[in-house]
Amino acid sequence: MTISNKVSAAIERSSWIRRMFEEGAAMVAEYGAENVYDFTLGNPSVEPPAAFQRELRRIVDQPDTGMHRYMNNAGYEETRAAVAKRIAENSGAPVNSSHIIMTCGAGGALNVTLKTILNPGEEVIILTPFFVEYKFYVDNHGGVTTEVWTNPETFQPDIDAIEAAITKNTRAIIINSPNNPTGAVYSAETLEALGKMLENKQSELGRSIYVISDEPYARLAFDGISVPPVFKYIRNSILVTSHSKDLALPGERIGYLAANPALDGVGLFMEGAVFCNRVLGFVNAPALMQRLVAVLQQESVNIDEYQEKRDLLYKHLTELGFTMIKPGGGFYFFPKSPIDDDVEFVRLAQKHNILLVPGSGFGAPGYFRIAYCIDMGIIERSLPAWEKLAKDVGL
Ligand code: PLP
Repeated sequence: MTISNKVSAAIERSSWIRRMFEEGAAMVAEYGAENVYDFTLGNPSVEPPAAFQRELRRIVDQPDTGMHRYMNNAGYEETRAAVAKRIAENSGAPVNSSHIIMTCGAGGALNVTLKTILNPGEEVIILTPFFVEYKFYVDNHGGVTTEVWTNPETFQPDIDAIEAAITKNTRAIIINSPNNPTGAVYSAETLEALGKMLENKQSELGRSIYVISDEPYARLAFDGISVPPVFKYIRNSILVTSHSKDLALPGERIGYLAANPALDGVGLFMEGAVFCNRVLGFVNAPALMQRLVAVLQQESVNIDEYQEKRDLLYKHLTELGFTMIKPGGGFYFFPKSPIDDDVEFVRLAQKHNILLVPGSGFGAPGYFRIAYCIDMGIIERSLPAWEKLAKDVGL
């Protein structure tokens, strides 16, 4: 064995992902990209807003001396101030630049946060169905995940179940809204109930339990709703997010973490997190992207495009008999698998050139995920294939 046993086992466990990619690539080669309906990847189909191109050109045309050098590990002051301003306006919390660290995406922010707060063996509650990387990220920093199911009818967090899962070793809970994979947007009532329960629990146990709110889809909310700001409802909260989805920049690795000013030991947390951003080897978030997002805090991709895709597919699939919640945001559906075995269902879908991810990949067997952040043309061409698939499984 030349690599660590742990990594080797993790690769083996996720080998189905590799297999899916390989099979998908083979299908594209055989049938042509326009005839394969690939709903597997959460990679935005839309381009960044026009303001991004405009600012990029402006910076290239008027370069500042030193703009490619190292900086404070937390990031540029002006970028952090711009991010803080937006969060403060949105939540009403007195957030300023000292509460912000620019990171390499939400993934970077999650790793920095977990490394900052976790002692070996401490528990992090994740809510099923969950973004699969959470398990790896928690493990990266010596933590242990505890999986707690959300309400299967609504995919809202089940506050009683979370309370029952908290032990004297619980250090954090990761929440994600709008959710990948379910598309659920957590209500203000749910966040408020979670905040209240945690205040009681923290007093009872005499220790801090942090809510890490992972929100890369926060600006992708539909039907005019806005995602309730976590800082308003949960005191011990840390927001981790990125511009991977709202500005369609996942390849540029630009995100941030923000600590609630009311967080227990907020100064020490920020000091620890700046240190972790450094020693995890990120050092700082990409300089050029920091300059860009500083002036793009009010910008967002065209949400209407995603909403149209959601509406078209939701109507078609529910008419065919698939059951799912109507997502309030993000760009995923998480329907019930019409047959018990979700992996088998995904195989059947493949026969109709529809590529999906089984719910088992998110800790939720019996479901499957559709990522509809793909071209409208592909979605439209896929509709007859969904009809055939529905017939195949007896819907
Ligand atoms: N969290 C969730 C729920 C996600 O779906 C993703 C990416 O798909 C991430 C975090 C990571 O985002 P980033 O590209 O900003 O690291």
